[in-house]
Amino acid sequence: QLTLREQLFEILAVTAAFYQHALHQPSGKAALEYLRSERQLNDETIQKFQLGYAPAGWETLYRYLVEQKKFSVQLVEQAGLIRRRKESQISYYDYFRDRLIIPIHDIQGRVIGFGGRTLTDEQPKYLNSPETPLFNKGKTLFALDRAKDAISKQDLAVVVEGYFDAIALHAAGITNAVASLGTALSLDQVKLLLRYNESKELVLNFDADKAGNTAAQRAISEIANLAYRGEIQLRILNLPNGKDADEYLKTYSVEKYQNLLTDAPLWLDWQVEQLLAGKDLRQANQYQQVAEEIVKILSSIIDDNQLTHYVNQCAERLSKGDSRQIPLIS
Ligand code: ATP
Ligand code: MN
Ligand code: MN
Ligand code: MN
Repeated sequence: QLTLREQLFEILAVTAAFYQHALHQPSGKAALEYLRSERQLNDETIQKFQLGYAPAGWETLYRYLVEQKKFSVQLVEQAGLIRRRKESQISYYDYFRDRLIIPIHDIQGRVIGFGGRTLTDEQPKYLNSPETPLFNKGKTLFALDRAKDAISKQDLAVVVEGYFDAIALHAAGITNAVASLGTALSLDQVKLLLRYNESKELVLNFDADKAGNTAAQRAISEIANLAYRGEIQLRILNLPNGKDADEYLKTYSVEKYQNLLTDAPLWLDWQVEQLLAGKDLRQANQYQQVAEEIVKILSSIIDDNQLTHYVNQCAERLSKGDSRQIPLIS
């Protein structure tokens, strides 16, 4: 007798194989073409990440799982793959339809959910599996199963926003990359990473757009306490021209990405630069505002060496273009 979780795992594995098969059928042609030409992924990567296609019909997966494979409707619904029609007790429709499918795995490599990207301009662009007994978005990192060994070996983890950012990095040989599934990185997700990462080095490479910046700021406030205590070494990589990792790799090169990664600033330096960006320190009110924010940051630093370093650095930055020196911490 299988447990509920075991049964759900089985349904998801069968479903992943179904989607994967569909990608190589005539109806999956556009999706496969999209992966090859727009995403520039080769067949090895497509295979490795078990990418697939959810057919366009309303009940294609339902029929396959329930009618052909004889899985119970209730279990398939609990797996997050079908939904009951509002007006009906017995009629169900597929959750993912006409979408490119990206399976999400747990650390052991078992499928626990899916991300689905539209191939048209339908909204939402990405649809993720709902929360299920197997899938908890805030506690999952995409591609951690494939990244954990590289993270251990390099003592460094790179966190990106999107599925395709992580996939593109892996395809380019940067295999210590994981994606946060479009949520701001949570404390639980960071703790998951730290299991594999002795030196606790972490680079956040969120999109250099407004949403990415907000997500980075939220992630930082989630994990700031760890950083202030020196329990993680956090660095921030902002790519130029609003690009995400996938776009950057396609436009430039993996060597250039690697260089930016190596030079990514420590998060406090990044925070200070963010505060200073666009400010005119010759204006007394702006100067005052920046100084106050900086004092707030500095007052949270626990480590003495770090504190000395940042007090000096901030004093220097604040005095640029302005002859006044204010004592930052009294
Ligand atoms: P693209 O496939 O166009 O490259 P992207 O991954 O760059 O998309 P962004 O708009 O930068 O997409 O969003 C980053 C991540 O946030 C996505 O990969 C996805 O995980 C998540 N996301 C974006 N839009 C949605 C949405 N509408 N619902 C749920 N998650 C979303
Ligand atoms: Mn973005
Ligand atoms: Mn993006
Ligand atoms: Mn993108």
